[in-house]
Amino acid sequence: MGNNVVYSELGEQVAKNVADFARKHIIPFYKEWDELEVFPRELFKKMGELGFMGMLIPEKYGGASMGYYEYVSMLIELAKVCSGVALSVAAHNSLCTQHIYQFGTEEQRAKYLPQLTNGDWIGAWALTEPTTGSDASNMKTVATKIGDKWEINGTKCWITHGKSSEVAVVLCRTAEPRTANNVTAFIVERNTPGLKAGKKEHKLGVRASETAEMIFEHCVVSDTQRLGQIGTGFHQAMKILEGGRISIAALSVGCAKGAYECALNYAKERAQFDQLIGNFQAISFKLADMVLKINGSELLILQSCNSKIKQSNNINLHSAMAKYFASETAVYVSNEAMQILGGNGYSKEYPVEKYLRDARITTIGEGTSEIQKLVISREILQ
Ligand SMILES: Cc1cc2nc3c(=O)[nH]c(=O)nc-3n(C[C@H](O)[C@H](O)[C@H](O)COP(=O)(O)OP(=O)(O)OC[C@H]3O[C@@H](n4cnc5c(N)ncnc54)[C@H](O)[C@@H]3O)c2cc1C
Repeated sequence: MGNNVVYSELGEQVAKNVADFARKHIIPFYKEWDELEVFPRELFKKMGELGFMGMLIPEKYGGASMGYYEYVSMLIELAKVCSGVALSVAAHNSLCTQHIYQFGTEEQRAKYLPQLTNGDWIGAWALTEPTTGSDASNMKTVATKIGDKWEINGTKCWITHGKSSEVAVVLCRTAEPRTANNVTAFIVERNTPGLKAGKKEHKLGVRASETAEMIFEHCVVSDTQRLGQIGTGFHQAMKILEGGRISIAALSVGCAKGAYECALNYAKERAQFDQLIGNFQAISFKLADMVLKINGSELLILQSCNSKIKQSNNINLHSAMAKYFASETAVYVSNEAMQILGGNGYSKEYPVEKYLRDARITTIGEGTSEIQKLVISREILQ
């Protein structure tokens, strides 16, 4: 495209490897997964073998030992092809696996990370509930201490891999009142009695990514499954979402790039009134705005990666800015791409309608655009 931001040389190599992988294992199948809402479980095993399922985890625990530049390069490339697959990879890597790595004990890391990084196990991360989304610290799922065990009761919803994950990090209230300081995180394995999967969501987009409820009824876990100190779970979750926002920003850019490239090619081939539609300023200026916003998103992602790597105090601000701008860009670009393709854009013969459907989640998941503006405004006013 000529305007690609290079995150790192290694990131370039990773992107090339992902593109090769996608040509063989995703491109031939993604339409069917989307149409039939298939979660392609086997694909994640294959991606585990290539290191995609433990990108940010040290080799010691079976991970690929890479950094944020390489991680975002992978997600952009995956989302160019299928944002559903990219969303599942992002949730597995930056939510569940990162949470266990950042806040787990050595025993917890050694027990769970090797299986998560090699793709044998898929991870989930359960914060959202039916009555608490943006207002997550107000959660109703409780964990009650009984001897050296905890009993979890409540329902989590909209959980990526809520049915198919082998392990989940679950955020629970462990004291009253319902404030951010009374939340604790637990690792819950799928076969724990009292945990069952609820309804699977039927979604507009990212349909290859499974989303489902998780229901906890007298679900008992040992105190050794607790992540960090009692009462620190919500603060852990907010730290995890800093990385999560960078990954959704990267997914957004991949989705936007896919739609933009499709529209650019179309504008160079489609003729009306005896000339290519790309010659009409109405179309070429759309393409200019699209590429500008994509490039701007990538620079914000680069800035947030730098802040994350340096553990700068600005990470909250920068990751919220990147997520907000890139996700709104994904929606804008895929919508404009549909306009450029005209009737063909509205047809399933072309991938643009899928980019638009997939883009729509990015301004909602892992903090809506309104919540990102709240974070940004609080950061600049403090
Ligand atoms: C495909 C998908 C996958 C997901 N995966 C996961 C997952 O793996 N784990 C998980 O825990 N969650 C997951 N979620 C949940 C997601 O994070 C929430 O949907 C999101 O945080 C928004 O919460 P909500 O849907 O309850 O909306 P609400 O919080 O009810 O918001 C509704 C509207 O009100 C606005 N609003 C709310 N509060 C404010 C405010 N203070 N100021 C201004 N506007 C406000 C919002 O911006 C939004 O426009 C997923 C969601 C989807 C759709």
